[in-house]
Amino acid sequence: MPLVIMKFGGSSLSDASKMKLVASRIIAKKNIGNKNKVVVVVSAPGDVTDELLEMANKITSNPPGREIDVLLATGEMISISLLAMTINSIGEKAVSLTGPQAGILADINYTRARVKKINPKKINSLLSKNNIVIVAGFQALNSKGDITTLGRGGSDLTAVVLAAKLKADLCEIYSDVEGVYTTDPRLVKDAKKLEYISYDEMLEMAGSGAQVLQSRSVEVAKKFCVEIHARSTFSKNHGTIITNEKKIRRKKMEEPLISGITFDKNQIKFTIVDLPDIPGVAAKIFGSLAKIGINVDMIIQSAAVNKKNDISFTVSGRKEVKKMQRELDKIALEFKASQVVCDEHVAKISIVGIGMKSNAGVAGKMFEIIYKNGINIEMISTSEIKISCIVNEMNMVKAVKELHKGFGLSKREAV
Ligand code: ADP
Ligand code: ASP
Ligand code: MG
Repeated sequence: MPLVIMKFGGSSLSDASKMKLVASRIIAKKNIGNKNKVVVVVSAPGDVTDELLEMANKITSNPPGREIDVLLATGEMISISLLAMTINSIGEKAVSLTGPQAGILADINYTRARVKKINPKKINSLLSKNNIVIVAGFQALNSKGDITTLGRGGSDLTAVVLAAKLKADLCEIYSDVEGVYTTDPRLVKDAKKLEYISYDEMLEMAGSGAQVLQSRSVEVAKKFCVEIHARSTFSKNHGTIITNEKKIRRKKMEEPLISGITFDKNQIKFTIVDLPDIPGVAAKIFGSLAKIGINVDMIIQSAAVNKKNDISFTVSGRKEVKKMQRELDKIALEFKASQVVCDEHVAKISIVGIGMKSNAGVAGKMFEIIYKNGINIEMISTSEIKISCIVNEMNMVKAVKELHKGFGLSKREAV
């Protein structure tokens, strides 16, 4: 009997009527054709995770990771129990399992644990008794016996690791959009749904702001060749298949130049001015930031003039500005830099596409579109299939819309 993983995000579980709709889709999937075994993964309802974090922040600005994980794990537990009740009330058998009960084991990093192993005994036993198994996403058990969480958006990861371990025939990730679009359809109304997208492109899109899938889940899907079908809870339409590049190549005659455009407003830019041009400065700055848990994104070092240079870098996430500022002030003092400048009004826009590999001139076209709209580029970074620019956050929406149009990604344009 085929095995299907169905993952439903918080936006699909925010009230009882949505729960009922989700339950009916699960039951329909179970009873289709020769019948399926179904494992369901769910997120916390609506914005519950954010609300729980706010509750913690009202108590302390520095809550212990262990307790945050205990708190956040309760969100997904609301969903599993309510969904199991809903399915049972319709007359099908469903059993809820927390991450630890489902045998999901992780390392000891609280709030960002990595899945180490899965012991699927309990899931398999319940499936063999004809149950729909409903697993709480985003949570696991560590070797100390503590509950941990897998990073924001981590229910996607739970779905993918279970699909890999249980050798599922299908891994469907349901949300409030019909799939992966050329850009966020909430921002650009004529964004186009992609039929396919490669793991690498999806990774770059997820890593640069497209919230629709968690990047680690895509990393794991690529590693274990789990094909993902991203689709909508609220429509029967086919969504987007996330799969390997070769398979997509076989289906398409020609690669589009650009598959998607992403944006991230949650950026902050620091510049340390007049650093001495001597070995070890960059190592000290970025080593110190790493020690306090700050992940740096783009870095630019200017050429030295009079044995001095500036280093600018961006960080994704504006929550820990004060902590970063304190650390950088210490470094500036140590190296006698003249000042540390912090700009919280920047945004990152990126274009992503495997077509870029074989086409020169994509970067030039991107910069030209931005320039023609009177927007200044503050920083640039590139990878093989992505180009990112930092601009003033005021210009972000305009830049995204113009790039989307300029690269011919709108519904009306042929790609
Ligand atoms: P869920 O609650 O189901 O986990 P998310 O909110 O995490 O769903 O992800 C879905 C959201 O991702 C959509 O509502 C959409 O606004 C956003 N999104 C951003 N970029 C894209 C994109 N390129 N394609 C589709 N959705 C996107
Ligand atoms: N509830 C968690 C979050 O909001 C996990 C998830 O939704 O995937 O990040
Ligand atoms: Mg999500």
